[in-house]
Amino acid sequence: MSRLFAGTPFDIPPTCDRCGKLEEECGCPPEQQTPQWLPANRQRAKVRLDRRKHKRMMTVVWGLSANETDLPALLSELKTACGAGGSVQEESIEIQGEHLARVTDKLKQIGYRVG
Ligand SMILES: [Zn+2]
Repeated sequence: MSRLFAGTPFDIPPTCDRCGKLEEECGCPPEQQTPQWLPANRQRAKVRLDRRKHKRMMTVVWGLSANETDLPALLSELKTACGAGGSVQEESIEIQGEHLARVTDKLKQIGYRVG
């Protein structure tokens, strides 16, 4: 950053916005990066049905990057669309029951490429 008022009484040394100390004395930790979500239309999601114990079926959304996708937000959209419970796993979303068509439709509606 250029110092517009260099050499004038307004030439105040830069200070930290958080602690107010001179930048060279500041000991604040680096600012947390807010996650950068990848737009839905640049991602491809895959959907499959999984048979679990006691013949319970799960609809699994996978193939999305957990670092680039707000999986908890997507989970709540899918739960609402299916009227079913579900959970976020490490790299996937699981919706209880068989909802292949609804989940696929919802993902496409949000903008994901599916398949
Ligand atoms: Zn500071």
